Amino acid sequence: MTASQFTFIFIAALALTTLAKLWLARRHLAHIASHRAAVPEAFNQKVRLAEHQKAADYTSAKTRFDMLGALFDAALLLAFTVGGGIQFIADICNGWFSAPIAQGLATIVAVLVLYSLLEAPFNIYRTFVIEARFGFNKMTFKLYLLDALKGILIGAVLGLPLVLGVLWLMGRMGAYWWLYVWVVWVVFNLLILFIYPSFIAPLFNKFSPMQDEAMKSRIESLLNRCGFTAQGLFVMDGSKRSAHGNAYFTGFGKTKRIVFFDTLLERLSINEVEAVLAHELGHFKRRHVVKRIVATFALSLGFLWLLGLLMQTAWFYQGLGVTTHSTGSGQAQSTALAFLLFFMTLPVFSFLLGPVMSAYSRKHEFEADAYAAKQTDAADLVNALVKLYQDNAATLTPDPLYSKFYDSHPPAMVRIAHLQTQ
Ligand SMILES: [Zn+2]
Repeated sequence: MTASQFTFIFIAALALTTLAKLWLARRHLAHIASHRAAVPEAFNQKVRLAEHQKAADYTSAKTRFDMLGALFDAALLLAFTVGGGIQFIADICNGWFSAPIAQGLATIVAVLVLYSLLEAPFNIYRTFVIEARFGFNKMTFKLYLLDALKGILIGAVLGLPLVLGVLWLMGRMGAYWWLYVWVVWVVFNLLILFIYPSFIAPLFNKFSPMQDEAMKSRIESLLNRCGFTAQGLFVMDGSKRSAHGNAYFTGFGKTKRIVFFDTLLERLSINEVEAVLAHELGHFKRRHVVKRIVATFALSLGFLWLLGLLMQTAWFYQGLGVTTHSTGSGQAQSTALAFLLFFMTLPVFSFLLGPVMSAYSRKHEFEADAYAAKQTDAADLVNALVKLYQDNAATLTPDPLYSKFYDSHPPAMVRIAHLQTQ
């Protein structure tokens, strides 16, 4: 393949995925608008028209903004790659540092920093304009900046040694570097999973042991019934940032913790909390968490192997606007550029993996619902879900194709109909 052929393939794939995203979003908007006038029949006892319309307006506002985001992302990616952005940054970093590995690290950091700065206005608008307009944002701008600062520090402490290690392995381990890098990647991710609940999450939120004795004893008897051991029940101050509610598990083996957002406990009855927890237990019992981790690791092994092949070609670099490889200004520098180019352009080429992953996730949701229906009353889970849909202003009428593509959870109507047959 020649460089210009690859440039053509890349631009065509980027245009196609961007058009597909815009087309799906347009369908979604049209579908929501055409169902805005009335609450779907299955919900008309439970959801008021005003709430239904708020959900329609909120979802539409987010979807319209996502369309703008898709165009911006495409333009940014073009500017960084064929537009010469990465090459430009690499040239500057090459002037600052003489060791190839330092040049490589500096280029990766500079590109990532620049990228996040350019994306920041979008995140700020999403939180402080869209979320705020619908009454969901509880975050102050000061908290937003503090979060960003903590994120940068954590990224530096954990990410810099990782990138350095990866670049070093890529340079030293010969043809099978990707296997070594993969092992490091797996160990790194397991380490993060391990330290996240006790070291990272507390930097952002307060976790207090659950106080409500009635709720605690109900939950403990559910855990016993399901043969599940957890190290503690915690309430997280999710209301500090957002009015959206959630519940989740973290940790491994016997150190597992169950975390409830305070916003969830405020809204649900004891029965409903129990049903939501039973659903989460279903994910564990059916080994969804382990399956997902294994699938992600398998996929990353495939990607690293592919990167190993692409790195040996000149068209991959030149086709994406980078000339360093052909001028041979140091192995570590060009491996860093290959790394950047690969992971920045990967979403364009793996776009069709999205719906596959979504379908896999929806299958797990059905299984977890079935488990919850066996352990608790399915009607309680239905009521809890309706409340969560109301509180999150999630639309009850997504476009079916849009939903197939993006939704990790089945649409409300499908999911509830499923539960009602259990
Ligand atoms: Zn679930």
